[in-house]
Order: sequence, then structure tokens, then C-alpha cells
Amino acid sequence: MNTETSQSTDKAETVGKLRTELSVAKNLFFGEIVEENLFPYPQMRERDREMLGMMTDAIDRFLGDQAADLVEMDRIGEQPEEFIQALREMGLFGLIIGETHGGLELSNAAYARVLAQTSSHDSSVSLTIGAHSSIGMKGILLFGTEEQQARYLPSLASGETIAAFCLTEAGAGSDAAAVRCKATLQEDGSWLLNGEKIWITNGGIAGLYTVFARTDGPEGKLTAFIVEAGWEGVSHGPHEDKMGIRASSTTTVAFSDVRVPAENVLGEVGKGFKVAMAILNNGRTGLGGGAVGGMKALIKLATAQAKDRKQFDTPIAEFGLVREKIAQMAIDCFAAESTVWMVAHYIDSGCKDYSVEAAISKVFASDAIQRAAHEALQIAAGNGFMKEFPYEKITRDTRILSIFEGTNEILRLYIALSGMKDVGATLSDLKNAVGDIFNNPIKGFGVLSAYAERRFRASTGIGTDRIERELDPRLRAVAEVLERYTVELSKAADLLLRKHGKKITDYQYQQKRIADVTIDLYVGLCVLSRADHLLRSQDPEAEAAVQIAELFSKQARRRMVRNLRGIRHNEDATLDALAGRIIERGKYVWDVI
Ligand SMILES: Cc1cc2nc3c(=O)[nH]c(=O)nc-3n(C[C@H](O)[C@H](O)[C@H](O)COP(=O)(O)OP(=O)(O)OC[C@H]3O[C@@H](n4cnc5c(N)ncnc54)[C@H](O)[C@@H]3O)c2cc1C
Repeated sequence: MNTETSQSTDKAETVGKLRTELSVAKNLFFGEIVEENLFPYPQMRERDREMLGMMTDAIDRFLGDQAADLVEMDRIGEQPEEFIQALREMGLFGLIIGETHGGLELSNAAYARVLAQTSSHDSSVSLTIGAHSSIGMKGILLFGTEEQQARYLPSLASGETIAAFCLTEAGAGSDAAAVRCKATLQEDGSWLLNGEKIWITNGGIAGLYTVFARTDGPEGKLTAFIVEAGWEGVSHGPHEDKMGIRASSTTTVAFSDVRVPAENVLGEVGKGFKVAMAILNNGRTGLGGGAVGGMKALIKLATAQAKDRKQFDTPIAEFGLVREKIAQMAIDCFAAESTVWMVAHYIDSGCKDYSVEAAISKVFASDAIQRAAHEALQIAAGNGFMKEFPYEKITRDTRILSIFEGTNEILRLYIALSGMKDVGATLSDLKNAVGDIFNNPIKGFGVLSAYAERRFRASTGIGTDRIERELDPRLRAVAEVLERYTVELSKAADLLLRKHGKKITDYQYQQKRIADVTIDLYVGLCVLSRADHLLRSQDPEAEAAVQIAELFSKQARRRMVRNLRGIRHNEDATLDALAGRIIERGKYVWDVI
């Protein structure tokens, strides 16, 4: 790869060969592939592998035996206390807490793998465990003082205390900064907390809440607090009656003149938004892992159904339109899995800038499992529609994944704008450099020549970033697609920024195209790396993995061509006008009578 990158490479720390300061996804916007952060495909730590072997078997035994009860929990919309107690006894609340505090100290990669296993049985179970670890108490792990960690982690590890994450309010969903819940500083240094949070996972069973509140006036900044459920003034509403993940507890949580001691501020006062985003970014691989586990279960169900069911005297597994669905489910699952565990590895290796990759893994995995649930139900057809079979529950359960922990729309905008921000900074550096040539010639010419080199590469394709690793010929063809469209992405970002400047934020249709190209490129690179690893390690299934890499890259290329062409030739204005018209009327205005 090229040595010049969007972020300072001199400072780049390394873990093995990993460049922990660099984001692979953001560098794609400069036409550059940070090869060191993609190859070789990361492997699970030996200690995690051993523990996972035992845990996945125990989970299968326990949840396998409970299959009928899990259906009943979905029907009544609740997990009984005895069931939660059994989850505690299996150590499922202490997965990522350090051994010194009584936890299992699994890596993020191993944690995501545990959630994959629980999700292959029931999503509500994953949510109870996941909301506790991924978001509920993650703030204490990431930002807690030693004293806070010593006070809370042991009971969080045993599950005696279950945690929940309280950000969303009636007026603050995607716009998390619009939180109105308020904490007022008291003379003795404590805080008085007032407000109501909605749709809080584990809200009804938690003993500890990570709460985000405004701390300096109505337009002030957010601060994170650790709030105990037992304190005076803390209450929660009844379980919400939901479409899916019905057994998982979702409630409102209200705070009425709750006195929070100064030592329960989490992180710095006024830095709550940063705390919330860090928790959500760090927790996204848990959701991705769950989605992969769910997809594996769907593939098992769909293949069994396709082999068993005969129509026209033929198992439906022999029909092309059924086989196409099964192949696509496998491609999607492999791609999601390769991406989720790559991102988990970044987190475990101390990478500093992985938020775009984490967003990509969440968007791709959550979209993929919804496609898989739709297609598996279609293969089961009438049976799939009946409550007697698991497909309708899985379809209901997976629907939430593109809504919470950042909607997929918001995350797509985030992916596009985060990447373009760095390109925009380079463009304004360029503008400044023209002035600097006279004031500070050395600095000015430095920026100019660096940028000119990039532009030259991008416009000519000469010096296109090439993955230097020696690849199997079939994987080389896959790599060429990714190399070529990485350059095309950088050209498209450059074009949009030159045309719209900061106003690019007003062009969401374009941002979506850029995000989708970035997703295809990053996921494609993860697939390539994994297939390369499987070939090198002579995995018995390596051939199929290479086929998947070839198929993914060809499908991705078609999508990328369409998206990139759409940047120049589109009907965005007409679509927007039509939407405006329909929204204004508030209905579909035509009829045939
Ligand atoms: C079952 C469940 C569990 C949950 N658990 C928790 C929890 O534990 N803790 C917690 O704090 N929250 C939780 N939430 C809340 C969840 O995170 C929010 O629902 C989510 O952030 C979206 O907010 P919203 O539902 O208010 O949608 P809105 O923000 O109102 O969005 C509505 C639609 O508009 C789109 N949209 C919004 N803004 C933009 C924009 N700028 N550009 C383009 N499109 C936009 C969205 O993508 C969406 O399609 C949970 C929600 C559910 C349903």
C-alpha cells in the first residue's frame, strides 16, 4: 500500500503489524488500503478458544433444553426470574469483566462469539446479556474510576446486579444530543437528577443504570451518571408489548429528584456525549455477533426444510430459486462474520479509530440477517408463516436490529460523512496551502505536492493502491475489484466535496451511495482476508470460501457501479419533489374509481 495516508503514519502505533492509529475505512476515501490492518485475518486467542469450546456447549445444552420455554417466554413477553438466575449461574453476565472483579475476561471477539451462540437459540436471551455487557455496564469498564470499578464490577460480573443503558427519551431518539433529562449540581457536590427515559432494555430488571443527562442548563452538555435502581426517586414502567424480542425487558425509567453522589459521575462532567458514543461504538460487535449466530441458525433451518419438503415429486432443495436463496444466505453470513470479527479484533488490539468499521459491521450484519430471515421464511412458505415453526419469531426478532444502537440510516450517514470529513480537511488544507505558499512556503508546498500526488493517482489510475500480499490467482481477481473501486470511491468523495463543500450534509441520497460503496469495499476486504487465511491454512472448506469471495466481489462490483454512476446521473431531485408532494397531501392521492 502507499505509505502516505490520511492520518499521521509517523505516530502510528503497532500491535504486531497492526497500525492502531489508522482507520481502514476512512483511508479508503483517499484511495488507500491499509493492508497491515486487514492481513493476515485475525485469529481467536488460545485462552478464548478453550473457554468458548466449553461455553458454547453449555449454552447449546441449556438453551436447547429450554426451546419450548423460550417460545412461551416470547408469547407472554417475559423471562422468569429462575431463567435469569440460570443465565447468572452460567457466568453470562460477567463475560467481559476482568478476572480480578470476578468476570471471565473474554476478549470482544470471544464475547461476540458467545452472543452468536445464544442468538442461534433466542434473540431475547442475547439482548438481556448484551444490553448488560455491550452498553449497560460498558461505560464502567471504559471510563470508570478504580473505585467505581471495585464498587460495581463484582456484582455486575455475577449478575446479581444487571445493567441498562439509558439514553433515549421521547424527544431524543436518533438525535441523542437532544436529551432533556437534567442533573443539577447541589452545594454538597451531589447532583439532583430528573427526567424520563424510554425503551430501555433491561429497564425492568436492572439494578444499575448508566444515565445520560444535561448538566449545565437546557442547552448544556451531557454528563453520564451511574445510578442505582434502589435509590429514592428511581422507578420504571411496565414491560412494553413489542413486535419482537418480546421476552427481553423494555421499559421506561424515570428519575424524580434522585440524588446522585459526585463519585457516581462516569467520565468527565460535560463529556457524556463522548462517553455514550464510545460505549455504542465499542458495543456494536456484540450486536453483529448475535446477527451472525442468528443467520447460522436460519441456514440450518432452511437447508433442513429444503431437503425434507417435496413438491412436484422433488425435494425443493433441487430447485434453482431455492438454491439461490441458500447460497445468498451463506454469502451474507460469511461476509458479516468476516467483518464482525475483524472489527472485534481492532477493539481487542487497542485500535483508536474503529467507529466507521464498527458502524459498517452493524449495518451489514443487521441488513443481512433480515434478508436471511425473509428468505428462510419464504423457503418454508406456508409453514414459515405458522407460529408452530420458528421462522416468524426470528423474522419479528431480527427487525429491531436496524433500529436500535443507531438506526441504519443514521449509521450510513455517519459512515459517509466521517470518511468525507478527512477528505474535506485535506481539501481545505489545500486551499490554505495556496495562501501558505507565500507565508510558509515549506508547509504550503508540502501539502500541495502530497495532494497533487493523490489526485494524479486517482485521475490516472497509475499507482492505484495494490494489495502487495501474494494472493491465489482467484483472490487476486477479487483484490483487483476492491483496489479499483477504492480509487473510484476516493474520486467520488472528492467530486462531491468539490461540488457541494460543507453542504454535502444536505445531500443524503449521495451520502447513502457513498456509504454503500464503502460498506461493499470494507466488507469485501474482510472477506478477501478471511478467504486468503483459509486457503493458506489448508482449511477443508477453503474452496467454498474462495467461491464466496469471488461471488461477493462480483455482486459488490455491480452494486458499486450502480451507486457510483448514480452520483453523476440520478433522479434525486424528482424523487425528492415527489416525496414532498405526497408528504404535503399526507396520502396517496390516486384511485381507479
Ligand atoms: C426494543 C428497543 C430497545 C431499545 N433499547 C434501548 C436502550 O437500552 N437504551 C436506549 O437508550 N435506547 C434504546 N432504544 C432506543 C433506540 O436506540 C431508538 O429507538 C433509536 O435510536 C431510534 O430512535 P427513534 O426510535 O426515536 O427514531 P427516530 O430518531 O425518530 O427516527 C425515525 C426515522 O427517521 C430516521 N431519521 C432520523 N433522523 C434522521 C436524519 N438526520 N437523517 C435521515 N434519517 C433520519 C431514522 O433512521 C428512522 O428511520 C431501544 C428501542 C427499542 C425499540
